[in-house]
Amino acid sequence: MMPVLIYEETLQCPICKRNTLKHSEYVYDSGPGGILNITVFSCSSCGFNEKLVKPFEESKPIEIRFEVKSEDDLNVLVYRSPTAQLEIPELGISTEPGELYQGIITTVEGLIEDIIDTIGDFCDEECIKKLQDAKEGKIKFTIILQDPSGLSFVRSEKATVTQL
Ligand SMILES: [Zn+2]
Repeated sequence: MMPVLIYEETLQCPICKRNTLKHSEYVYDSGPGGILNITVFSCSSCGFNEKLVKPFEESKPIEIRFEVKSEDDLNVLVYRSPTAQLEIPELGISTEPGELYQGIITTVEGLIEDIIDTIGDFCDEECIKKLQDAKEGKIKFTIILQDPSGLSFVRSEKATVTQL
């Protein structure tokens, strides 16, 4: 059986920043290996490519926690799916995905930038300052993603994933 495409969208590329990143979700019956969920990101502009395979059974609500403590942590790749709620307690950030939210694949630093872009208008000077400090690695903070679709990920061994 060939992998079946269940979902496809175009996003901004985390590397070249062009809107040419194709995100595809496939379901694949591998026989003895069970049913698999394959996530593919590929950019036609710069060649960025990322593929993840996991058992389809694990596509359940999850909570991901990731403590950002160093500059290396800021470069970790993050995918926030269209259904994921994002919380950063230290920065007073808690955002529900809107109906039109498309999801984003980026680095931790890019995720903070995205927050500054989207909630900037609702944020006072002190709050913007905090976000800037976080982006530059001056303060430690925790990223918490709650995702009913289970598709979000943080590409680090230090990230913890809990089934909800
Ligand atoms: Zn690219």
